[in-house]
Amino acid sequence: MERTFIAIKPDGVKRGFIGKIISRFEDKSYKIVAMKMINVTLEQAKKHYAEHEGKPFFDSLIKYITSGPIVAMVLEGENVIAGTRHIMGKTNPNEADVGTIRGDFAQVKEYNIVHGSDCTESANREIDIYFDKSELCENYKTMLEIVMEH
Ligand code: UDP
Ligand code: MG
Repeated sequence: MERTFIAIKPDGVKRGFIGKIISRFEDKSYKIVAMKMINVTLEQAKKHYAEHEGKPFFDSLIKYITSGPIVAMVLEGENVIAGTRHIMGKTNPNEADVGTIRGDFAQVKEYNIVHGSDCTESANREIDIYFDKSELCENYKTMLEIVMEH
């Protein structure tokens, strides 16, 4: 089963959308394997966004992601990487469909309130940056898992 790293960015936390954002993923019955509210360290931020180093928006992106706490999550499900990115909408909220998180709650790409991994390799790398293996809760079944056993 596929896993992804999701984060509610500092603007999402400060604007009071933690519950609404988590609901979007819970509605789809993705399994929450881990979740915590943390202040991202400079080291974690730079590791996370290493692919964007050197780009004009890199410094402001690092400032943004370290500007307050995030809610970090590991979600699991069938095609969860593509599925959660679909639910989040395009990077630029102006181009994100209505009904997506970014389409509904954000105006500009610099403050797009949510992060989701873009492929399996990124997901594994990002989960490792933010979570210790012992923080992953693998000892329970969701209702969807129970339903799908029948
Ligand atoms: N970003 C930005 N300016 C840009 C492009 C991206 O501030 O021109 C920020 C934005 O917060 C985005 C993050 O950098 O979510 C990572 O960019 P990426 O292209 O990986 O988008 P994502 O995978 O988050 O949709
Ligand atoms: Mg990305």
